[in-house]
Amino acid sequence: MERPWYAHYDEGVPREVDYPEVPLYELMRRTAEANPEKQALDFMGRRMSYGRLWEETRRFARALQDLGVQPGDRVAIMLPNAPQFIIAFYGALLAGAVAVNTNPLYTPRELSHQLRDSGAETLVILDLLWPRYAEVADEVPVKRVITTGLQDYLPFPKNWLFPLKAKKEGRWVNLPRDPKRHDWKRLLQAPPSPKEHPIQTDDLALLQYTGGTTGVSKGAMLTHRNLISNVYQVDAWEPGQVWKNGVMLSVIPFFHVYGMTVSMNYSVMRGMKMVLLPRFEIAEVVAAIEKHRVTHFPGVPTMYVAFNTFPGIENRNIRTIKVCLSGAAPLPVEVATKFEELTGAKLVEGYGLTEAAPVTHCNPLYGERKVGSIGLPFPSVDAFCADPEGKPLPPGEVGELVVKGPNVMKGYWNRPEETAQTLKDGWLFTGDVARMDEEGYFYIVDRKKDMIIAGGYNIYPREVEEVLYQHPAVKEAAVVGVPDAYRGETVKAFVVLKEGYADEVSEEDLRAFAKERLAAYKVPKLWEFRDDLPKTAVGKILRRMLRKEEEEKQR
Ligand code: AMP
Repeated sequence: MERPWYAHYDEGVPREVDYPEVPLYELMRRTAEANPEKQALDFMGRRMSYGRLWEETRRFARALQDLGVQPGDRVAIMLPNAPQFIIAFYGALLAGAVAVNTNPLYTPRELSHQLRDSGAETLVILDLLWPRYAEVADEVPVKRVITTGLQDYLPFPKNWLFPLKAKKEGRWVNLPRDPKRHDWKRLLQAPPSPKEHPIQTDDLALLQYTGGTTGVSKGAMLTHRNLISNVYQVDAWEPGQVWKNGVMLSVIPFFHVYGMTVSMNYSVMRGMKMVLLPRFEIAEVVAAIEKHRVTHFPGVPTMYVAFNTFPGIENRNIRTIKVCLSGAAPLPVEVATKFEELTGAKLVEGYGLTEAAPVTHCNPLYGERKVGSIGLPFPSVDAFCADPEGKPLPPGEVGELVVKGPNVMKGYWNRPEETAQTLKDGWLFTGDVARMDEEGYFYIVDRKKDMIIAGGYNIYPREVEEVLYQHPAVKEAAVVGVPDAYRGETVKAFVVLKEGYADEVSEEDLRAFAKERLAAYKVPKLWEFRDDLPKTAVGKILRRMLRKEEEEKQR
């Protein structure tokens, strides 16, 4: 299909992306062989070069093979951003296996579903999370568990202070003797010589679980091609290698495909130093930016909100930041503007989803950025807004966003029905409602399933949230539809106020503010102030959870 609007991605961004037809781990091999001494990461003061990282990856791959892991076997990884994550992920792929990213925040029930669904026989897990596995050990197919602690990679004396601290805080777990359990440090004594299997670019590399458009969590099958092409698409979007010696702040979790591609795989491909932070703690983030002169900070809107509202941020040394990509949720305009003023960086909004490994759209880094837009389709991505029959709509009309490209998944693991609903002729139906303007820029209107229907009117929560964010007292806002006997649904706003505003701003003030800016039917009828809002591991506000709470209240 012709894309006349494509020409707008100029300033050196190619039309189609060129990427090597190799397995993903070749990116690490290439970087390590070209620059073995180059620093790959900093983990709370522990440094590691690319040469060493590649060596440990090879040792781990060999250890997996010696334990009996076969090509195509699934290896689940339940780790935060730490050196072990990178080694386990690349090592599993190098051994010919398929990685299964597992969220360390999962409850035993969620973990059990994912291990059973993926059929993972190997699990790499943080020692502190062992009890979560132990609770479901009898019901999952796991045959071997590899345990590792953060202290395994901390520099002296942190490596022994850390367990002491964890014990004092009651977080320490005494690992049992268990025939299935293997210790990371012992395994890493394996020789760095795995048997290399002939991996094809279209072989499966990763099962990335997602709620997708239909409730139950399912594994998006991402191939080596999907992952590698998205890294090169991001690279093409950031042309000119301007920040060759860039420093990446890796705080978005690697177990989410956004962190995996944009933060981890991208750094590995470019040979950038990654500053690994296992959790988002704003004071630590700011300190890390200052200390490491961070240039790249991909994140999600709530992170930039925390940054902008951090006391004393104006006086910190943070102007080394150059490039920030915001994804996963809409970026309120106010947030982006304030962040750019503070740092002098470019904070550019993009869009993606697990099923596309993940990025499909982004505003140009150097060309025209449009407020409230997710930008243009990435190089080699085709996109349109579809009518209910799946046919392309003309510019300006609202419909489901549909995308195609080398980064689009193979399908859902063992779920042919869901795959057929989502992938049609290679086109991925995203479940997001969007429109495209005359110049080919896309705008997400909302998630299809989050649309509120109140008294026959369609209301997109995002539009209402955008207005609330414009109020100077509002730190975070989420809008959902709650069941209403008369209207079907009614609009409810959950608001977190900035510090110091609690006594100054009332529900009436916010209502009046919204009324001036929105049609009456969109103005929330119900309001609730909270100290914080439920969020996913990457910081996406969970409207779904708020909706569920409301439904339960009414029962
Ligand atoms: P996930 O598969 O968990 O990465 O979630 C993907 C979903 O996040 C998309 O389908 C969108 O609903 C949402 N999303 C991602 N980026 C944006 C954005 N820039 N604006 C609005 N929604 C977004």
